[in-house]
Amino acid sequence: MITVLRINHRPYRDKRITTHVALTARALGAATIVVDTEDEELREAVNSVTRNFGGNFGIETGINPMKFLKSFHGIKIHLTMYGIPIDECIGEIREKSLHSDVVVVVGASKVPFEFYEQSDYNVSISNQPISEVSALAIFLDRYYQGRELNMEFNGRMHVVPTVRGKTVKIIPDERECLNILNSAGADERIISHCISVAGLAVRIAELAHANLDLVRAGALLHDIGRTRVNGIEHAVTGAEILGELGNIDDRVILIVERHTGAGIPADEAKTLGLGFRDLMPETLEEKIVAHADNLYSGTRRTSLAEVVEKYQKKGLDAAAERIIKLHRELSAICGVDIDSVQ
Ligand code: SAM
Repeated sequence: MITVLRINHRPYRDKRITTHVALTARALGAATIVVDTEDEELREAVNSVTRNFGGNFGIETGINPMKFLKSFHGIKIHLTMYGIPIDECIGEIREKSLHSDVVVVVGASKVPFEFYEQSDYNVSISNQPISEVSALAIFLDRYYQGRELNMEFNGRMHVVPTVRGKTVKIIPDERECLNILNSAGADERIISHCISVAGLAVRIAELAHANLDLVRAGALLHDIGRTRVNGIEHAVTGAEILGELGNIDDRVILIVERHTGAGIPADEAKTLGLGFRDLMPETLEEKIVAHADNLYSGTRRTSLAEVVEKYQKKGLDAAAERIIKLHRELSAICGVDIDSVQ
């Protein structure tokens, strides 16, 4: 675990560059940044990136840096143009860090000599004066040997690389989901059902340690297709509506597309005129939303027994069996019978 210790931060002058040090630390694999001077605005700027783009990056400000460095248990590195060239020590640092945490000190202005003395390694990224942002970036890249560039952040927003232009896909939050439903023309009945399903889905997701943002958005949007059609095809239509918006995370769209009962296998989907693909929920989040929907009739909570009976009365025995199987699977994951989750 790598912590970056930012010293001599002067909010009136260094706000932008310290934000860049923090964003570089976050994007290139550090776990947290500790900044000597208290700066709420800086914390909020960095936390808002983490809230949107994901990960667990931490930021603390107003910490005595020498006290922090002295009490740090692990390898202490100070980046300075006066130090040992990185290529001469990075192998040793990487090896030692298999069993230890690492702190990387970067300055803003002149760094007191005590920091050179307290550090296990004074490391230079060339012996020319450069910036703390580039020094930190090169250090982290050499340390992780490029692997940090492929890290998954699992955020609410993610960039889809494109040759030209900007594509950002989002997992819409509750307010955005309600706006999407309203813009699609959803009536009160659809919206209140979606809110009921989302409430249960999120509670199951908490027990199952699933992605809450994804489950909330998928559940709130699961019946958006009913704004156009009311039959069994509404799930596929809903996925199409969301696809047309162009910026909705594919995982949300798949939750919507695969939410009917406990899913529809490819042969049944074909018979039902829903195309040739399998509409079975695959991910935990897809399974949770599908089943939370099974357990709501409008805004009334039902039980597994009631749902199964309803399917069996319609002669849909195979679908009923699939629902029982899904109920058992999710109950095992959550450690409680889903019927008892309120
Ligand atoms: N003049 C200051 C000093 O002598 O300590 C350095 C100020 S520099 C703008 C800010 C920070 O960038 C330094 O504290 C150091 O962490 C980092 N830095 C700048 N050049 C570097 C280099 N060539 N190698 C490693 N770190 C460097």
